[in-house]
Amino acid sequence: MNPIKIKQIIDPIETSDGAGVKLKRSIGTSQIDYFDPFLMLDEFGSENPEDYIKGFPPHPHRGIETVTYMLNGEFEHKDSAGGQGKMSPGDVQWMKTGRGIIHSEMPAMENGKLHGFQLWINMPSDLKKNKPEYLYIDSEKIPCYQDNEKSIKIIAGEYSYIKGSVTNHNVNPTYFDVELEEGKIFDFEIPEENNSFIYLVEGRIRIGDEENNDLESSKLILLEKGNKLMVASETKSKFLLISGKPIREPIARGGPFVMNTREEVQQAIQDFNNGSFAKY
Ligand code: MN
Repeated sequence: MNPIKIKQIIDPIETSDGAGVKLKRSIGTSQIDYFDPFLMLDEFGSENPEDYIKGFPPHPHRGIETVTYMLNGEFEHKDSAGGQGKMSPGDVQWMKTGRGIIHSEMPAMENGKLHGFQLWINMPSDLKKNKPEYLYIDSEKIPCYQDNEKSIKIIAGEYSYIKGSVTNHNVNPTYFDVELEEGKIFDFEIPEENNSFIYLVEGRIRIGDEENNDLESSKLILLEKGNKLMVASETKSKFLLISGKPIREPIARGGPFVMNTREEVQQAIQDFNNGSFAKY
């Protein structure tokens, strides 16, 4: 067994996207541009409607998966493939954009607290050619492990023989929402080849047996490769554990398009401009 250590601790940067939605970005910045297969991680959260009300009007994507996880508030989603849905607290939308989709993500609330995450996962070159598909996972359908010390929502992956909502996926992802009572331990085994991170949402934790690693929210904690993860809570804590198998292909970023080469990004821009983008 190879205990997992901290690789890097990153303070998210405050930025905005869409039509001016304020968010904290922690992957997809100058500090960590790409943590294969993860391209971006945003936490959006505010009690001020001005920070979110303009939402994300129609925009295209190609070559990536977007995983949206709502903790608070409501969002409405519409896409060019006819998909439509309203996301409520605890819901997940896991979208594989493949060769292209145009969608909008707009708040379905006028006030109150909005809080959630969007993760971008890269797709390998062969899957970037696929038709888009999306999986909508209702909060109450997400498998959950619970005992006196912790509660784990298993969005993807497996914990204690409970399989998550997303299976048969090329990067074999783990996506857990973990709540740990004060002074408890969360142990988990991770495939050694994976890249993994923890996003601490609330509380204070330690990772592994290193001294002086009291970490407080909101922080991105990139983990070294290994297979034995141990998280200890100093206070009642909540964090996301996300892990996946690297794709190991060159990437070319062009905003909402992530391809293998510059030429493919140019092609995506051209397809979008001439209206042939999301035609199947
Ligand atoms: Mn989008």
